[in-house]
Amino acid sequence: MAGRKKRWYTEYFSTHSAVMHGIEKWLYSEVTPFQHMELVITYDFGKVLFLDGKVQSAASDEFVYHDALVHPALLLHPNPRNVLIIGGGEGATLRETLKHDTVKRVVMVDIDQRVIEVSKKMLPEWHQGSFEDKRSTVLSMDGRKYLEENEQTFDCILVDISEPVEDGPAYLLFTKEFYQIVYKRLSPEGVVALQAGTTHLNDIGCLASVYHTLKTSFPVVRVMETSIPSFTLPWGFCLASKKHDPWKLSPAEVDSRIAARISSPLRSYDGQTHAGLFQISKHLREAIEKNVGIIEDKRPFFTPA
Ligand code: SAM
Repeated sequence: MAGRKKRWYTEYFSTHSAVMHGIEKWLYSEVTPFQHMELVITYDFGKVLFLDGKVQSAASDEFVYHDALVHPALLLHPNPRNVLIIGGGEGATLRETLKHDTVKRVVMVDIDQRVIEVSKKMLPEWHQGSFEDKRSTVLSMDGRKYLEENEQTFDCILVDISEPVEDGPAYLLFTKEFYQIVYKRLSPEGVVALQAGTTHLNDIGCLASVYHTLKTSFPVVRVMETSIPSFTLPWGFCLASKKHDPWKLSPAEVDSRIAARISSPLRSYDGQTHAGLFQISKHLREAIEKNVGIIEDKRPFFTPA
């Protein structure tokens, strides 16, 4: 058949659904102590990083994901100076965080030294030198352990970790106990943002449970949704805060904070995008409200591998 690709990467969403990415070139594959890392060039999205068989980010649209994760949280805080990134191995969350003039120090803690090393070498489009910025401290250790062992507080915490697959390194960073620690390590006006899984109506369990679990610690919890084409499924994020509510930020106020605090251009996020990110359809709001499971260390949530 005309146009049929020779090689495919099959990414499974469940036992009965998957997507096939046409592969132009395999770049790299390694089983690290924590996960299976693969780098490929796809026809549709360019270079793509997969961890344990799931797209983490793609050259063509990583900016949509990283803008949504970083900028609403940092601009909601009146003066974010100290930021913690948990995960974020590719360095793009770090790159976007460093665009904020208020930020004086960023600690990035990713459990997998190999993801950081391979990203440094093979994903320069993602990190754009951010690992070498003098405001950056990059550590390789479990993000939860880091928070448990360090008393210092942060103005914003960005949790950019892989999905909670069983036996994977991330699932204990989606629990009530973890969010309690995050709350303690945030300063009084602190904000946390995290990727929370798909907003696909048939698979809303992760996002809904994360939302309700965050609510056990934080007075303000809001859901964001966007479309990241390489993820295939629509994607959800949660933003939780001790004090400030992103619903109260008008598009004009967002644009004026961007102008005052960010000197480099943003490709996806502005006042209008902010308003769109927080507009969740009625059927999804209802599904999220109905699905009230609380995730705990002894009752974790697992995404199908
Ligand atoms: N954009 C992604 C997504 O949609 O899932 C997340 C990207 S980022 C590459 C995920 C990173 O989280 C990986 O580099 C992985 O090593 C890191 N990670 C997973 N579990 C972690 C943990 N417990 N502590 C710190 N980092 C962790």
